[in-house]
Amino acid sequence: MKTQHIIEAVEAVQAAILANESQIESLDRAIGDGDHFINVRRGCEVLMGLRGEIAPLPPGEAFGKIGMKLLSTIGGASGPLISSFFIAMGKSLAGIAEPDRVQFAAAFAAGVEAIKSRGKADLGEKTMLDVLIPVSRLLQRLAEQGAPLPALCGQLAAEAHRNMLATRDMTATKGRASFLGERAIGHIDPGSKTCEVAIAAVCDTLKE
Ligand code: ADP
Ligand code: MG
Ligand code: MG
Repeated sequence: MKTQHIIEAVEAVQAAILANESQIESLDRAIGDGDHFINVRRGCEVLMGLRGEIAPLPPGEAFGKIGMKLLSTIGGASGPLISSFFIAMGKSLAGIAEPDRVQFAAAFAAGVEAIKSRGKADLGEKTMLDVLIPVSRLLQRLAEQGAPLPALCGQLAAEAHRNMLATRDMTATKGRASFLGERAIGHIDPGSKTCEVAIAAVCDTLKE
């Protein structure tokens, strides 16, 4: 992968997030405080503005810059969590000029580990991790098997979609939705929806 791919991914994610505004908004209004879409949109805007600065950097440094910038600009619980994901990815890819798929998958897994330790959460707590953990595991398996790119992208998007939907039946034990107890059942977790939308958008840019 090259930094140009990161830039294309940022553009695709922003477009997809904006296209899903009403759903992301209404999910955090139902089981959170209603600001998740605004937080994520702000993050996308900031990354769009960072494109020129990251373009000449190797991918590891680009991810590091993205993480630091998001940390200083997005709020909410999701801001520091998503920032830690990119900072850990950057560390994992340090010194690699053009990471291959196995190295990228390892970096993604390091990013997910960073979210787990920062948010002290794991699978089944109705958070973004319910999408990110299974996607990361599948990505590692498919990368190690040398799966062709279109199959890899299609399977990852499907895995994200399935696991996003599965958060609907969960009770939350982390984040604001945990204050609602059983009343959170029946609503998809907003962070999971955002991650699914972002993963599907990135997969789409890679399919060709
Ligand atoms: P806030 O809840 O502070 O308003 P956001 O609305 O931006 O922040 O983000 C809410 C999302 O953050 C949730 O839908 C969930 O996916 C995610 N989240 C909250 N707490 C955690 C945690 N401890 N670990 C992982 N993800 C979390
Ligand atoms: Mg919120
Ligand atoms: Mg908030």
